[in-house]
Amino acid sequence: MKMLLDGQWVDRDKKIDVTDPFDNSLIDTVPAASSDDVETALSAAVKGFEITKRMTVYERAQILFKTAAIISDNLEEFATVIAQEGSKTITEARKEASRCVNTITASAEEAKRILGETIPFDSFPGGEKRRGYYYRFPIGVILAITPFNDPLNLVAHKLGPAIAAGNSVILKPATVTPLSAIKLVEAMVQAGLPPQAIQVITGYGHEIGDALVSDERVRMISFTGGVEAGKHIAKIAGIKKIGMELGSNSPVIVWKDADIDPAVESCVSGAFWAAGQNCIGVQRLLVHREIYDEFKKKFVAATKKYKIGDKLKDDTNMGPMITEAEAIRVEKWVEEAKHKGAKVLTGGKRQGALYEPTVLENVPKDITIHCEEVFGPTVNLYSIDDLDEAIEEANSLPYGLLTAIFTSNVDVAFKASYELDCGGVMINDSTDYRLDSMPFGGVKYSGLGREGLKFSLQEMTEPKVVCFYLPQI
Ligand code: NAP
Repeated sequence: MKMLLDGQWVDRDKKIDVTDPFDNSLIDTVPAASSDDVETALSAAVKGFEITKRMTVYERAQILFKTAAIISDNLEEFATVIAQEGSKTITEARKEASRCVNTITASAEEAKRILGETIPFDSFPGGEKRRGYYYRFPIGVILAITPFNDPLNLVAHKLGPAIAAGNSVILKPATVTPLSAIKLVEAMVQAGLPPQAIQVITGYGHEIGDALVSDERVRMISFTGGVEAGKHIAKIAGIKKIGMELGSNSPVIVWKDADIDPAVESCVSGAFWAAGQNCIGVQRLLVHREIYDEFKKKFVAATKKYKIGDKLKDDTNMGPMITEAEAIRVEKWVEEAKHKGAKVLTGGKRQGALYEPTVLENVPKDITIHCEEVFGPTVNLYSIDDLDEAIEEANSLPYGLLTAIFTSNVDVAFKASYELDCGGVMINDSTDYRLDSMPFGGVKYSGLGREGLKFSLQEMTEPKVVCFYLPQI
């Protein structure tokens, strides 16, 4: 596939292979962008903004509604590309493609609700005879940098609201999964988006990233990815807006009065969705001692039923990790845990990029798989005795995206939801529940700002005050 620069789909002699992590087969190639391409993207995005800022709300919304219709009409094709280039099974990929339709549709709807307010200037002395209001204006060129794990919908979460608000965009998709992102942009152009409004630049972040991130023509960076890249970007960005959706190691509390079977089902799915490569994937399960043995037995039994392998088969539950190197990393973390006394209840074996769904207990609290984001198909079980202890444990690490609690006691749920330090608390769902239009984001190292269409639109626009001094009134 090609890059979209300055209104043209372009190729380059130097290419990057896009391969299927299941069997390493070549799916396609994308151009490896040069520093000249970076300059073209930046200068074309500035020109593109001159077009997008003059488009009416109706035009922007119609383009997004049409984009959603194109994706919906070609859902299986989008799902197949997601499943081929990434880790997801075809079942998981179909769900992502459907969510992308919702994300783009909600962006179109929210385009019509970018509102301002009148301002009561006369509410303090000195404001007499003044009337005014503020409205929200698009901020300009937005640099969208996206990760591999939801290669379509997380791109939609940036392009949808950016276009809805009237910004121009430079998109740099993850190098291992650029094809779903390019297909989304093709759909937008087919739906009527002026091609100058969006630049798609393919290339390695560590090669082309700094020139894009530090350029003053970029007015906002909307980044989703890991903490290390996030810290680097924040350091060199200069004075511009930054939105960051980063990682986590999500804790889930299972209280003694929880309905165990649905809790097990939800947590197993939440731990192993997308082979655990999920920013809200369940990593630390804090289970009340009174139900620990029953929960563990059922959780391990459900995990053992997982069928792993060929992503394109309907009955496969979990695919490979994104690369063999990533599976080797997880293997090392599990080996470290074993040496330090953790017990592997099931899983723990690797074949190429496939890593078995793995359940650990007795995990010491000073080792990597406890402290860091595993971003792989492993989950740690801990038993807890009281709620304060569980909340303290959940809050003990420098992440805070979503947390969850299973309980039938409203007082317990209420206390947990106020005291858990994070961007959202799910009650009787695992952390792996997200509605695309809810405010989504984290605290501490999990991020800055919020996504979720209406909330992204706030981040991607600025208020401008207009004040009339009317001495005659
Ligand atoms: P990553 O390695 O940080 O890469 C994310 C994106 O950043 C890729 O497009 C990457 O490009 C680019 N990048 C890397 N270094 C860069 C630099 N110096 N300058 C500019 N761009 C740079 O993350 P990943 O492995 O793709 O994704 C996994 C991470 O994303 C996890 O930590 C996960 O929790 C997080 N995530 C968070 C959310 C959320 O909403 N909070 C959602 C999904 C994922 P290349 O591909 O070319 O390296």
